[in-house]
Amino acid sequence: MLNIILFGPPGAGKGTQSQQLKEKYNLTYLSTGDILREEMAAETEIGKKVKDIISKGGLVSDEIVVSIIRGRVEANQKSAGFLFDGFPRTVRQAEMLDGIMNEFSLKINAVLSLEVPEEILINRMIERGKTSGRADDNIDSIKHRFVEYNEKTKPVLAYYEKQGNLKGIDGVGKVEDIFATLCNEIDKISKK
Ligand code: ADP
Repeated sequence: MLNIILFGPPGAGKGTQSQQLKEKYNLTYLSTGDILREEMAAETEIGKKVKDIISKGGLVSDEIVVSIIRGRVEANQKSAGFLFDGFPRTVRQAEMLDGIMNEFSLKINAVLSLEVPEEILINRMIERGKTSGRADDNIDSIKHRFVEYNEKTKPVLAYYEKQGNLKGIDGVGKVEDIFATLCNEIDKISKK
């Protein structure tokens, strides 16, 4: 099994790259952002609970996202692998993910971290906001997402660095070039 975490700040291109990666490697794609947006659209209990937090750019509680992820991992144990996007976003989520992986005798093979400077990200997200229809793609929420990222999500990098799983990827450039770099890393890892 090939289990990959695609890591990066808001707007780094995780969603775009994931679409191609999941196809190429036949991975079960788990984007907590997408799953939470589906819950909101369907107006489920979870959806109602997270709506305000998400629109303001805050992080949803670790318990909610971890229980969603655990359910999806349990349901897809026979898949070729998992591609995690936007999860884990706190050190606590990373620790709990290790617990889930252990429970199902799985392991994370690599954490690929898309690196993009903050000025570029903010511009990309403002552009995206013109068409995305996302309540959190406005300047105030975007700023808050970066505060949350810097405070709570960045420390996750050190967590995986310690495990020896972290690989930085230059996320500035053409989509297809970044995709090629990601594939190159994944191919190296799967040969190990
Ligand atoms: P981005 O484009 O900012 O990377 P995502 O689609 O991954 O956005 O997530 C959108 C929002 O959903 C986040 O700002 C946060 O409110 C919530 N969210 C997604 N994943 C998580 C997570 N793992 N932990 C907490 N909140 C999350």
